[in-house]
This record gives sequence, C-alpha cells and structure tokens, in this order.
Amino acid sequence: MKIACILNPNSGIGRNPLKEAEEIQRLLSERGHRVDLFTPANAAEAYERARAAVEGGAERVVAVGGDGTVHQVARALMGTEAALGIIPKGSGNGLARELGIPSAIDPACRILDEGQVRILDIGTFGDRFFFNIACIGFDALVGQMFNARGEDAPRGVLPYFFLSMRAFQQYRAQPTTFHVDGDTFVRTPLMIVVANSRQYGWGARIAPSAEPDDGLLDLTIIQNVDALRVLYHLPKLFTGQIERMPEAECRRAMDVVISGDRPLPVELDGEAVPSENVLRLGIIPARLRVCAPREGQVSGLLKFPLPKIPKEMEPFFRPLLPRQKLQSSAPRPELR
Ligand SMILES: [Mg+2]
Repeated sequence: MKIACILNPNSGIGRNPLKEAEEIQRLLSERGHRVDLFTPANAAEAYERARAAVEGGAERVVAVGGDGTVHQVARALMGTEAALGIIPKGSGNGLARELGIPSAIDPACRILDEGQVRILDIGTFGDRFFFNIACIGFDALVGQMFNARGEDAPRGVLPYFFLSMRAFQQYRAQPTTFHVDGDTFVRTPLMIVVANSRQYGWGARIAPSAEPDDGLLDLTIIQNVDALRVLYHLPKLFTGQIERMPEAECRRAMDVVISGDRPLPVELDGEAVPSENVLRLGIIPARLRVCAPREGQVSGLLKFPLPKIPKEMEPFFRPLLPRQKLQSSAPRPELR
C-alpha cells in the first residue's frame, strides 16, 4: 500500500520526532508498504503535502501529531478514496481517543492495514470544516489563550486548567439566540459545543452521546455559571455524565444557527477561526474515510498511557505518582 505520513514535530510533549519518524518508516516498510514521510513547517504545508499525497495515489495519509495535524490532513482527504490514518502525538488527541487509536507507534501503525475503514461525517462552520469539535464561547477563549503562549509554553491538561481559571475573569457571557432545526430559543451560555465526536481530548466528553458517523451534530450548551460551579461539575466531563449537570443542555441537530450582539470566540478542532455575530453550523454525512481499530484489536491498557507530568510540577503530584519499582536484579544493600 502507498502510505504518506505527515509528521508535526511540534505537537504534544516529551517527544523525539526523529526517532518516531525512523520507527514509523521501519515498521511500515517491514509490513510491505511504500512510505513517504514529510515534516511540514506549518499547518498550510501539512494540508498541501496531504493533498499532494492523495493526488499521487496514496491510499493512507497519516497524521502524526495532535488534533491540529489531524484537522489539516482530514481537510485534504475529505471526499476522496484515501483514508486518514492517525498516530496520536498531541496533548488532547480528541478524534484518536474517540476512535480508540493508541498513542504507541507499533499498534497505531497496525491499524493502517489491519484495522477497519470507517466513514465519518464532517461538521461545517460557514465555509470551514471541523472533524472533531467546534467550541464557541468560554472554552474557545481558553484555547486561544493557550495557543497564544507560543510553542515552548508547557502543554497538557494542567496548564490548560490553570489558564481556564484566568479566563473566567475575562469572559463576558451574552444573550444568544439559537435556531436549531427550526426550533428557536434564547440562552446566556458560558459555552457552546457543536460536536462530531464526544470529546475535546484527554477523555473529556463534552458531548457524551455524539457519534461521528450518525449524520447528526451534538449540541451542548452550558449556561453561564461561575468557576466554582464548573469545578464542582468538572468530574462529570470525564465520567461522560455532563448531561446530568443542571445547567447543561444537550441535543442532536443537523443545522445550528447561533447569533448574538457580539462575535463569540470560535475554535474548530482546537484552532481559532475568525468569528461573526451570526454563526452557521451544519453537517455533511459520510464524507471522510478514517482508519480505526477493529473491535477488540487494541486492548484498553494500550490506548493511552498516563500523561507525562512536567518535571517542575512533579513535587505537587508526588503523592499521586506510582512508586518507583525497585530493580529486582540489583543486590540489596546489606545492613551493617
Ligand atoms: Mg454525530
């Protein structure tokens, strides 16, 4: 099979992109595939490389990176016969987690030829697209603050959490009109999520009933509440029970129009996009072929190992970390 890999060396934390590239090249070549590996300098080049790979006859175009890389490759692949592969190397890995693709390179590579090809829907935002989640309001503001810190700033769930607390002081909710499949209502939301898959990443399921191939979008509206209230309900995000938060409203839809007096911040698959007073979201059913594991192909334990904790934060988390194992082969020091 002809496989192209688009490797983003900057996504995620604690990586060795050079080693990853060698391993991917070796594993896929050993399995008899013709492999081309590209390391694009930016998002636009990632899209162009993926596009060129499809035109060159690649049957799989693999995003090696985070949700941003997946977004660019998916955009180039939609509506074509080529299937998107994912080797998840980002911090959130929303779509990869949703599909059950492990972050370890060997099993992720096996999914490219031994897995199944699923045909997923695509979300639309005006003339743009999203494959995982569109965030509008507070969480888009947090994402924008997170990305504005530059590439060297610490990534992962903890810095994200602390930044959220700061964003609470900045964010101003506004009365917003929703037109959802012919139904009209007004809310003053903290945040609005229009989801193709269930989660942001990190297992945070903001649209727990969403399925990426049911031809429908899942809309989650969280009413404007204070930071303490959000913190209290935060565990529900990770247990898939956000629908049980009294201020949460979840529904399915095909067309969503959201309007307000001021443009709300918007992020598509974690990337900020220009916003307007009226936002139109929709869905194109069955438009993107994606390599996913077969039932039972990947064991639960393999999927995502615990995230690495940055060195400087370790003292805070020492009580929670697994104890270092004693090397059984090393002789124990003798007591004197
Ligand atoms: Mg759906």
